[in-house]
Amino acid sequence: MSYTYDDQNIFAKILRGEIPNKTVLETEHTLAFHDIYPQAPIHVLVIPKGPYVCYDHFCQTASDAEIVDFTRTCGKVCEMMGVKDGGFRTIANAGENAIQEVPHLHFHILGGRNLGRMLAPAE
Ligand code: 5GP
Repeated sequence: MSYTYDDQNIFAKILRGEIPNKTVLETEHTLAFHDIYPQAPIHVLVIPKGPYVCYDHFCQTASDAEIVDFTRTCGKVCEMMGVKDGGFRTIANAGENAIQEVPHLHFHILGGRNLGRMLAPAE
């Protein structure tokens, strides 16, 4: 499957510095920042700087350096946010069924409270 990246999405604008963000950590290939509408006491978004629509797109086409950097940054964010002891959840919504709102790959890292079961019952 091929993906078309929309460079007008909100995270592309954040990466270009057109919209402010509350940065947690920035590396060569990755940016982590606080979600604007946090759904838990800790809610950080981790995004690659490259133009990847979703996780599948990233896994299939990103360089090894980007993948390692992204993955290590997720680990560092967990450490910085102190979620290891209480537990946390990582979510990467992709496409229509997952109701992905922003078409630039992002991992949600959520913690700081009991997050309930993984999925809400189907409607
Ligand atoms: P999705 O539904 O695509 O998995 O999640 C998109 C996330 O991006 C949501 O949790 C939403 O609150 C967050 N978000 C949307 N616009 C902005 C923004 O301008 N700044 C930040 N920091 N987060 C945003």
